[in-house]
Amino acid sequence: MNILILGSGGREHSLAWAVMQNPKCDRLIVAPGNAGIAQIADCAALDIENGGAVVSFAEENAIDFVIIGPEAPLAAGVADRLREAGILVFGPSAEAARLEASKSFTKEICDAAGAPTAAYARFTEAEPAKAYIRQQGAPIVVKADGLAAGKGVIVAMDEATALEAVDDMFGGAFGGAGAEVVIEEFMEGEEASLFVLCDGENILSVGTAQDHKRVGEGDTGLNTGGMGAYSPAPVLSPEVEERAMEQIVRPTMAEMARRGTPFQGVLYAGLMIRDGQPRLVEYNVRFGDPECQVLMMRLGAQALDLMHAAAEGRLGEARVNWADDHAMTVVMAAKGYPGAYEKGSEIKGLDKLPEDSRNMVFHAGTKEEGGAILAVGGRVLNVTARGDSLQEARDRAYEMVEAIDWPEGFYRRDIGWRAL
Ligand code: AMP
Repeated sequence: MNILILGSGGREHSLAWAVMQNPKCDRLIVAPGNAGIAQIADCAALDIENGGAVVSFAEENAIDFVIIGPEAPLAAGVADRLREAGILVFGPSAEAARLEASKSFTKEICDAAGAPTAAYARFTEAEPAKAYIRQQGAPIVVKADGLAAGKGVIVAMDEATALEAVDDMFGGAFGGAGAEVVIEEFMEGEEASLFVLCDGENILSVGTAQDHKRVGEGDTGLNTGGMGAYSPAPVLSPEVEERAMEQIVRPTMAEMARRGTPFQGVLYAGLMIRDGQPRLVEYNVRFGDPECQVLMMRLGAQALDLMHAAAEGRLGEARVNWADDHAMTVVMAAKGYPGAYEKGSEIKGLDKLPEDSRNMVFHAGTKEEGGAILAVGGRVLNVTARGDSLQEARDRAYEMVEAIDWPEGFYRRDIGWRAL
């Protein structure tokens, strides 16, 4: 197969790495890619949110299978355009991608599917929203309905913060994403993520993970895209995972199919678990970044077969070959992130890391210039390792982190603390 992956982050590097290990892949192009991806595959410039441009590119390059990494092209209908052109694609339609693009849509689907989630109310005006907050009291969660790059959620521990969030959202702080606001019950518990491949009808779990969203050690400081992750997540024991599959994911997928908008791709269920009972926090319609890096590390070459089976509607007969292993990824970010940071510093020592098939440095914001690897993003490297235990994976990941020579970068030293 000739394969095209859309995206340019650590997630797409890990997808490319897994795909390249599978002999069914004849040629891999990643658009637009990054410096790490360029070491293992061809990279090409392409406007990946323009469905017409993606279809033309795929046709010109005799692409057999397209894997869409990020949410923006999905929400823009790129998977629909590819399917209309008869090109096989892994990723949901724009209609099915509303499970991520609209929080009120997700709530409506959960209601219809009977999936356990936080109690909520929806508002299009500030005054009734504020009255509801005063009536419910804090803690309470205020969410902009649309895509807001992970910033449209305020977990308010007091009423004043919640009221202020309502004013901000209706005041346009998140643009169109805040035209509707969802106000939710605050759920207590431990968060973890479940990743499920879906072919429109069948579902197959491809693993669990937990990540660290806060920039600082001890889970303190500002929110980020994620500073590290590990798989599996101990809190999602096989019993709890089964409950989440049967009570949340399966009825959601059945409801999507019933509406005539079946979901095909990967459903990422963010769950809150308390006393062994999972409840849905949110859905995403693509792999998480950096969770994908630890999932790919564990799945390896079979990831391509599984995504291909999902795209072709053959998941009913697919199985995951699990090794009893663990993976961890530690994010190295530019100093200043998630605030302002400098671009262009050089990262050294990447070529001197120990050769080990259980170790991999996935690139996120990097570029190559005259043989040097430069940092050009906030999150820059995902230093990833697999081991027989989480402790072993952790030890080898941090060994690599310490061997990387990049004074302008930083990382958290406590990834996995909860599980360890
Ligand atoms: P979301 O974008 O919906 O995942 O929200 C971002 C983060 O806010 C989640 O990962 C949770 O940590 C937190 N969060 C969202 N909804 C709730 C809720 N109802 N109760 C408690 N925490 C929540």
